[in-house]
Amino acid sequence: MHAAPMVAYFRDAIRARGCTLPDDFVRCIPLPDVDVRGQFSTQHSRVILNSITLADQRSALRTVVHELVHAYDHCRVEMDYSDPKHLACTEIRASNLSGECGWTEEFKRMQFGFARQQQKCVARRAALSIRGHTALRDQDPKQVVGSVFRRCFADTEPLPRDPL
Ligand SMILES: [Zn+2]
Repeated sequence: MHAAPMVAYFRDAIRARGCTLPDDFVRCIPLPDVDVRGQFSTQHSRVILNSITLADQRSALRTVVHELVHAYDHCRVEMDYSDPKHLACTEIRASNLSGECGWTEEFKRMQFGFARQQQKCVARRAALSIRGHTALRDQDPKQVVGSVFRRCFADTEPLPRDPL
């Protein structure tokens, strides 16, 4: 799938919740100094994609959706970026909904235990994403992720609960 319909879908969902977005809500620019594919700027409510590290169309779509989920959560809830549980929850949702755990591929490979594989992958990636964040201080990222996992994994808003 091309990224544009997903961007439009999330933009509409965010606006439907009453949040305003800049016209250039998603921007793709070269970020030579950072080793990230994308990021969500809470200050500007803008998704920034790194044109240097976005290798191919499929990984670009995953990165876009990952950051769009952060943008949606930023609007939907009173995000407290100093609360490890808030950080863990949005990372769980972003990893789960972006398809970066490759559920279609996993399904082809592993006919049994597919659901658990997805969960393990999402938990691992969410823990990696929040590791080293100042909000965690000396808490174990895996433990923080585990404490909110069930609720946040089940929360697929604004996407339908069952994958399309
Ligand atoms: Zn993230």
